[in-house]
Amino acid sequence: MKRAPSTYLRGNFLLTTCKAAKNLKGNKLAIQTIDIKILWGRAGGRCSEPSCKEDLTAILETGSYTVGEMAHVIGSKPNAARGIPEGGSDKYENLILLCPTHHTHIDKAPEGTYPVDLLHNWKKTHEDLIRNVGKTKKYESFALLRFAVARLLSSNKAVFNSAGPLSPAAQSDPTSNLFAIWELRRLDRILPNNREILNIIDANTDLIEDIATINAVEKFRIHADSYERHIYQRLDSYELFPTEFSEFFSS
Ligand SMILES: [Zn+2]
Repeated sequence: MKRAPSTYLRGNFLLTTCKAAKNLKGNKLAIQTIDIKILWGRAGGRCSEPSCKEDLTAILETGSYTVGEMAHVIGSKPNAARGIPEGGSDKYENLILLCPTHHTHIDKAPEGTYPVDLLHNWKKTHEDLIRNVGKTKKYESFALLRFAVARLLSSNKAVFNSAGPLSPAAQSDPTSNLFAIWELRRLDRILPNNREILNIIDANTDLIEDIATINAVEKFRIHADSYERHIYQRLDSYELFPTEFSEFFSS
């Protein structure tokens, strides 16, 4: 397995670059990296407000490093928005990903305008949307299915080639901020793409008639599951991308 340059793996970028991980005085909040990653990945890096869906990585590319905000559903302090005497938890279950505009708007609105149940509902609906992309897509031929998969594989490859640890930019300056982009893109681009690939294949299994292709799909499924766990929990190793999958689906 190819490994990233060690310096490229250093740092806890989300806690240092995500504005929401600090309070107004610049003190770090107690939100853990694992909760940030799960929140970011499951939201696909987009605002959870139903009419917004702003791609928050676009903000990152301006160089401002304001990459979306984790709002507490139940305020972390008694006097915070939607606060309770004992304070809300800093765990994923009590966080919702929002753009800066909606975070401010929701927290500044009169108490009761955006109740806890409504925000949980937004979060669940938004995450379901990301998770289920492609589940109802039907293709008329294997060639069309293959093209749709190839498009998503190409997107993953472009992210890896431009921002991954083996990219020329990362190799020339392993301490650059590119690592932040790579970490986010793995969560909000590669993981959702892998999910969509499996969703559209599973919705079109009638188009796959040979066992070799089925085997390649199942190897890809194992890779995708393992890679997701690696990204969230940084496992020492994971199942590599099966090259035979691209032979069937991206030529
Ligand atoms: Zn928004």
